[in-house]
Amino acid sequence: MVYFGRARNHPKVVARGYEYMLHYKDQDKARWRCKNISKTKCKSRLHTIGRHIKVLHMHNHEGPIINYENLVPTMMILLKTDAD
Ligand SMILES: [Zn+2]
Repeated sequence: MVYFGRARNHPKVVARGYEYMLHYKDQDKARWRCKNISKTKCKSRLHTIGRHIKVLHMHNHEGPIINYENLVPTMMILLKTDAD
């Protein structure tokens, strides 16, 4: 399960307990970067392609406490991860 933020001006996605910010979007493809990219130089990325997601690179920090109230749960298919 993946969670999308409701705010249009600040698109975000939560997957596997981590939050990602939109970096690049092209039709049904989007690339997201870990919210901690500037804080801890985290390299973790998430790609969404339609209903599929890929998680790339491990996080170098603990997952944040996430408030799921303003997030929309969405069923997505995990294609690949090297983040375990
Ligand atoms: Zn991270």
